Amino acid sequence: MRLVKEIEAELIAEAERRGYILNPDREILEGIIKGLAINEEKLGYWSCPCRIASGDRLADFDIICPCEYCDPDLEEFGRCYCALYVTQDYIDAGMPADPIPERRPESRQNRGAEIDTAEGTQNTEDSADTVDGEIKVWRCQVCGYLCARTEAPRICPICRAKQERFEEFRLAIH
Ligand code: SF4
Repeated sequence: MRLVKEIEAELIAEAERRGYILNPDREILEGIIKGLAINEEKLGYWSCPCRIASGDRLADFDIICPCEYCDPDLEEFGRCYCALYVTQDYIDAGMPADPIPERRPESRQNRGAEIDTAEGTQNTEDSADTVDGEIKVWRCQVCGYLCARTEAPRICPICRAKQERFEEFRLAIH
């Protein structure tokens, strides 16, 4: 798996090209980058760390970072869904942790299982738990953030809710 600093260098270049600002909160930023690194390793592309990927590049095309929804979310909310990219206005407003709505159409969601997700902790080697064609998924009961891994994140990367606010469910893998 590639190092955070390698991916961060690419993100910095991408941000400069597009006029984006990377989240200045180091913990959040590194958590998201680790999620991208894991998805890159498992899937071969930067599937959004905050969404369920199908594992099919074509089907996931809209959520390959920077996703199709990044620009409208930056414009409307000052941040992308994961808060990897933010605007100066959002920073000046104190970077509110309120979750933003999922712009990805429901018809495109939940078509597979993401391997892992961004999270500002060290347990990024944690792998998804698959049994009998189903995968264990954790849902943040505060903001709805989803991730597929053995244990719930210690802190929600979107709304910062604590681990006990996550609930477990099973998702069939197609
Ligand atoms: S929400 Fe942010 S981190 Fe996720 S794919 Fe879009 S731009 Fe990348």
